[in-house]
Amino acid sequence: MLILVINCGSSSAKYQLFDIESKRHIAKGIVERIGEKRSGCENHYESIRIIKDRLLNDGAFVESVSEIKGIGHRVVHGGEEFGEAVIIDKKVIESIEMSSELAPLHNPPSLEGIRACKRYFPGIPQIAVFDTAFHQSIPPHAYIYGIPFIFYKKYKIRRYGFHGTSHRFVANEAARILKKPIRKLKLVTVHLGNGCSMAAVLSGKSVDTTMGFTPLEGLLMGTRSGDLDPAIVTFLMEKEGFGIRRINEILNKESGFLGVSGISNDMRDVLSEMKKGNRRAAVAFEIFVYRIKKYIGAYAAVMGGLDAVVLTGGIGENVTRIKKELSRAFRPVLRGQAKFLIIPTNEELLIAEDTYRLVRNKRLSAEGGSD
Ligand code: AMP
Repeated sequence: MLILVINCGSSSAKYQLFDIESKRHIAKGIVERIGEKRSGCENHYESIRIIKDRLLNDGAFVESVSEIKGIGHRVVHGGEEFGEAVIIDKKVIESIEMSSELAPLHNPPSLEGIRACKRYFPGIPQIAVFDTAFHQSIPPHAYIYGIPFIFYKKYKIRRYGFHGTSHRFVANEAARILKKPIRKLKLVTVHLGNGCSMAAVLSGKSVDTTMGFTPLEGLLMGTRSGDLDPAIVTFLMEKEGFGIRRINEILNKESGFLGVSGISNDMRDVLSEMKKGNRRAAVAFEIFVYRIKKYIGAYAAVMGGLDAVVLTGGIGENVTRIKKELSRAFRPVLRGQAKFLIIPTNEELLIAEDTYRLVRNKRLSAEGGSD
């Protein structure tokens, strides 16, 4: 069975066409620089037409769109409403629209992608898989911030967490590799890519995560600050006369590895400068590893133990030094009880599997209903 996975980011649309039985993709690509003149793609709606064209005409991966039995969309924000993947209908679209305020760069492109798929892939069931969904199991004491409760009521200000599909994928893979049922495991999953986040996964459920109301909280990232004292914001506004827009730019685009090292947002550049003796690059790397270490300790305490730490994402999968430093740091504390694993993430495959499961269930219940 063929399942198409679509990931509409702020300025790109990635796609993978999976043969679900073999768990392999048979086509994969990206439409980039959406909205820029030179890209020849005006908006996300248009990008879906381009994807259809590539699948049918350029690569001849399918002869007709009807060979595709389901389309799975990665949707960044599902608010408090979605704790798992759902079949997209009018109500789901309305809910994603309502959550757009919480993810203004990501949810609107996903909605455009969904609407375009309705037109270019007519009649094919569409499924939404939310980045926030896996973290909906986090208890209130971990997701409520210490600010007046009225702001949670009024604006839904709370910790949501992101990268949920990646955390869920590597947690399941870890259970498979460790040959233990996931319900018996205490795991810390560490997604280190362009954005970085960690999750405490107890018995297969996320019980805490480092990203919060937005993907700005938690670990040091390429250009994002991660945790900081909120008073710094008002201090800088006062001292430098910064407005809200500028503050947002500094915290999201000019901080992290880039801001601390003054070199780059890419870990490869930070590491190579570090080797040349650049002290600020070394400090950026030290902050990065220190925070991961701190959260592992906190999450082990939260879960009452730790079976494994799983590293994934572009940095987690390639910079083996991080795994070595972490396992060395925890050896005396955990007495070798916990394993440190590197597991490549594959969010698209999980989205394809969720899509397949829901499409199959829908078919089965339709068949049952017609008896
Ligand atoms: P991702 O978002 O998972 O694709 O990760 C992207 C980030 O991973 C890049 O910005 C780099 O900082 C980092 N990265 C990718 N490959 C390597 C590598 N071989 N060594 C160090 N960092 C890497």
